[in-house]
Amino acid sequence: MEPWDVVIIGGGILGTSVSYWLGNQYKGRIAVLEREQDVAMHTSRRNTGVVHRPFYLDPVKRRIFARCSQAAYGMWKSYAKERNLAWDPVTTLEVATRPEDLKRIEKYYHWGIENGMGEDELEVLSAEDVRKLEPHVRGYGAIWSKTDTSVDYHAFTKSLRADAESEGVKFLTGVDVGSFKVDRDSLQILPRSGGEPIPARFLINCAGGSSLRIAHMLRLGTEYCDLNFRGEYWEIADEWTYLATRNIYTVAQHPELPFLDPHWIVRADGRREIGPNAVPVAGPYTYHGFFRTPAEAVKKIFEQPISNKLALLYNRDFLELAGQEWLSSISKGEMARRAQEFIPELKVEYLARPGIAGVRAQVIDRRGNFIKEAIELEGPHSYHITNYNSPGATGSPAFAAWLVNKLGQSDRLSHLRRRMVRGSFWDFKTISEQIG
Ligand SMILES: Cc1cc2nc3c(=O)[nH]c(=O)nc-3n(C[C@H](O)[C@H](O)[C@H](O)COP(=O)(O)OP(=O)(O)OC[C@H]3O[C@@H](n4cnc5c(N)ncnc54)[C@H](O)[C@@H]3O)c2cc1C
Repeated sequence: MEPWDVVIIGGGILGTSVSYWLGNQYKGRIAVLEREQDVAMHTSRRNTGVVHRPFYLDPVKRRIFARCSQAAYGMWKSYAKERNLAWDPVTTLEVATRPEDLKRIEKYYHWGIENGMGEDELEVLSAEDVRKLEPHVRGYGAIWSKTDTSVDYHAFTKSLRADAESEGVKFLTGVDVGSFKVDRDSLQILPRSGGEPIPARFLINCAGGSSLRIAHMLRLGTEYCDLNFRGEYWEIADEWTYLATRNIYTVAQHPELPFLDPHWIVRADGRREIGPNAVPVAGPYTYHGFFRTPAEAVKKIFEQPISNKLALLYNRDFLELAGQEWLSSISKGEMARRAQEFIPELKVEYLARPGIAGVRAQVIDRRGNFIKEAIELEGPHSYHITNYNSPGATGSPAFAAWLVNKLGQSDRLSHLRRRMVRGSFWDFKTISEQIG
């Protein structure tokens, strides 16, 4: 088989966005390999569906995610309009549940402005203002982000796949990448089920929860390990959805592990959910139970490098959390109790049924630290993106433009021919420069 010029592993929102920009900017044989039968079957559909504005992202420590999230807001807004996709600007209140959180609310306001949000898009509210805006929500104050929007990222990814296909990209679904054979000038990609190897001149790994494992196969990123946390949500019964009409988040109590704090979500189709808890599970696709097979659990525990996991025993935030919250957070009663801190009227019986559960693959370094930004790893024929976590769905078209531009500038795509300036619903040059 003639080698593909570029193969992208993973048809999630990131791999699909990268494929769109590659097809739009370069001439060549470009393929996306996806193990499922369709795109966005994992985290890119099992998320909370919020287009996050970057008021809560530290402009220095989370620079790339903050910039991507800022740049992508306008991109998704115009895209949703053009493709007739749901776009519901429900807005977000991030509430101070303790008096000491008010300082952070002020900080968020300044971060938002520093990250490029307009002064009219953010407002600091007193406890009284919160009550006026959302009569059933309580807090010492809040920041109101007036342009946070609810969308359906599964629909966004499917639509973007069609756009990538019209740029000449091929999506090969049902191909589960199992291993590699490295040649001098290319890679042979070996499907897990056997069959013909797939030759590629250059590989971009966007395999989400499997991305670190794939990088390890090529002996890259071996200083990192990852842990999987399932975030579970509960859907609120219809008659109680009036309790809040906006997304309600709370100021993170564990700033190092912000994905654990409870929130109330208004979905694009009007459903309300509360969550998440964070259950440690054995794999990125463990949506029920703790592990799919006992072997999977053992494999995860002893996966290399073990020393990173041992170093976690010195991470105070992690230990405190493991001690206090994990076991109790699994219960429906505990989930309701956590939400009562900001919606006191909420009762456990209002939680009608389990909502969507998604798994976060969190990368940990040698010191047992949870890495916050995405990690890029570079090999002779490959480039890998791992730890691409929230707000990754929001930022994906901007992150992907920045990545494709960077790969082009560093000659990693020199075997492809650049297309003449082409039209797109987005402006490649402006966006990629905005991030860099
Ligand atoms: C609970 C939860 C809520 C979230 N909420 C939000 C939110 O509201 N807003 C936001 O911006 N972000 C949110 N995020 C983060 C966001 O969803 C992710 O950053 C984003 O979806 C990651 O996209 P991805 O393409 O990297 O990964 P994925 O969507 O997981 O895609 C990776 C793809 O690779 C494929 N794959 C893996 N291994 C192989 C292999 N060996 N061979 C072939 N294919 C393979 C998988 O099948 C999958 O389709 C949330 C995350 C979680 C966990």
